[in-house]
Amino acid sequence: MGVDRLLRDEDGVALLELTREIATQELAPRAAEAEEQARFPAEAYQLLGRSGLMGLPFAEAYGGGEQPYETYLQVVEEIATAWPSVGVGLSVHTLTVSVLAQHGTAEQRDTWLPRMVGGEWLGAYCLSEPQAGSDVSGIATKAVKDGEEYVVHGVKQWISNGSCADYYILFARTGEDPKRGLSTFLVPDGTDGMTFGAPERKMGLHSDVTTPVLFEGARIPASQRLGQEGDGMKVALSALDGGRLGIAAVATGIGQAALDHAVAYAAERRQFGRPIGDFQGLQFLLADMAAEVERARATYLYAARLKDAGRPFSRQASIAKLTATDAAMRVTTDAVQVLGGNGYTQDYPVERLFRDAKVTQIFEGTNQIQRMVIGRSLFS
Ligand SMILES: Cc1cc2nc3c(=O)[nH]c(=O)nc-3n(C[C@H](O)[C@H](O)[C@H](O)COP(=O)(O)OP(=O)(O)OC[C@H]3O[C@@H](n4cnc5c(N)ncnc54)[C@H](O)[C@@H]3O)c2cc1C
Repeated sequence: MGVDRLLRDEDGVALLELTREIATQELAPRAAEAEEQARFPAEAYQLLGRSGLMGLPFAEAYGGGEQPYETYLQVVEEIATAWPSVGVGLSVHTLTVSVLAQHGTAEQRDTWLPRMVGGEWLGAYCLSEPQAGSDVSGIATKAVKDGEEYVVHGVKQWISNGSCADYYILFARTGEDPKRGLSTFLVPDGTDGMTFGAPERKMGLHSDVTTPVLFEGARIPASQRLGQEGDGMKVALSALDGGRLGIAAVATGIGQAALDHAVAYAAERRQFGRPIGDFQGLQFLLADMAAEVERARATYLYAARLKDAGRPFSRQASIAKLTATDAAMRVTTDAVQVLGGNGYTQDYPVERLFRDAKVTQIFEGTNQIQRMVIGRSLFS
C-alpha cells in the first residue's frame, strides 16, 4: 500500500513508484540477513545507480535527475523504510556529491561528477576525528603544501562507506586558525598513503560499514582541492544542512517501517478474545506513533521546499533532523512494546529498527548540536 504522498509533478510520481518497487522487491527481502552479517550492500548501490536514483538532485548535464530536494528526500525515505543502512549510504553519497557540485570548478565538475552522479562511484565524507566530533574546529589532520601537491597525515574516524567507497571527501587542516584553517579535498580510492582501520562494532546499522580512514603521507594533487584554501569549515557546514535533511528522511522511513510492522501485528495478535489493536490503550499508542511519523515527514518536507525555493533553510534542517530522529527513537521503542515479547527478539524486525534509529540522533550533528543551531538562530 505505502505512504500516500503529495508529489510535485508526474516525474516525482513515477520516481516514487520505481523506488517503492525496488525497495519492496529488492531491498527489504535482503536487509535482515545482510545486517546480521554486517555485509556492505554494494549491489544495492549498483542497482540504485542503474535506476538513476544515485544522482537525483543534481544537474541533468552531468547525468543527474535534476529533481527537487523534496522528491529526492522522499526517495531516501522509501529506501530507508526498506533498509535503513542503504538510506544512510545514499544520503552520505549525496552529501559528498553536493560538495563537488557546489564548490568544484567547471573542470573538476566535468572530470568527476558524471561518475558520482551516475552511481558508478560511491562517496564517503571524512570530517570527524577521534578528538573532533561535535567540535570540528578540533580537526588535526594536516595537509601541507609541497609544490603542486598536498601531503596529508592524520586519522579520520567513523567514516560511513569507509573502505568500500570509490572516493573520499576529506577535510584537513592547511592553516592554524581553528575555523579558517580547514580545506577540502577529493581523494579517490587507491591513493597511496590512505588506508582503513577495522570496521566499528556498532549497535545497529551494520551494513553501513563505518571505519577509520588513515592518512600517512598521502599526496593529493592541488587540482583535487575543492574550493579555496581555508574554506573547509564553510564547505562542511553548508553541505551538512542538506545532509541533515537526508538523515531526517532516513529517520522518518525507520519510523514508518516500525509503525507499519506494529499496526500489522496489532491487527493479527489476539488477547482476551480480540485483536490487541481493538484495545483503546494500544490504539492510542499507535495513534501517537502515526502522529510522530507524519510530523517528522512534514518538517523535512517544509525544509526541503525552502531549499528548493532558494530560501535559507539551515534552522529548518536542524528542526527536521531533531524532530524526525527523536520521533524515530520513540516510535521504534513503542513498536517493540506493541509486539510484546516478540518485539524483543530478532525474529521480528522492530528490534533492528530500534537499534538503527539510535544513531540517527547522533550522526551529522548530535541532537544537542541541532538544538544549539536552532537556539542560536533565534537570536541572530
Ligand atoms: C554510525 C556512525 C556513522 C558516522 N558516519 C560519519 C561519516 O560518514 N563522516 C563523519 O565525518 N562522521 C561520521 N560519524 C561521526 C558523527 O558525526 C559523530 O559521532 C558526531 O558528530 C558526534 O561526535 P562524537 O561522537 O565525537 O561525540 P562528542 O562530540 O564527543 O559528544 C558527546 C556528547 O556530548 C554532547 N555535546 C558535545 N558538545 C556539546 C555542546 N556544545 N553542548 C551540548 N552537548 C554537547 C553531544 O551531543 C554528545 O551527547 C558517524 C558516527 C556514527 C556513530
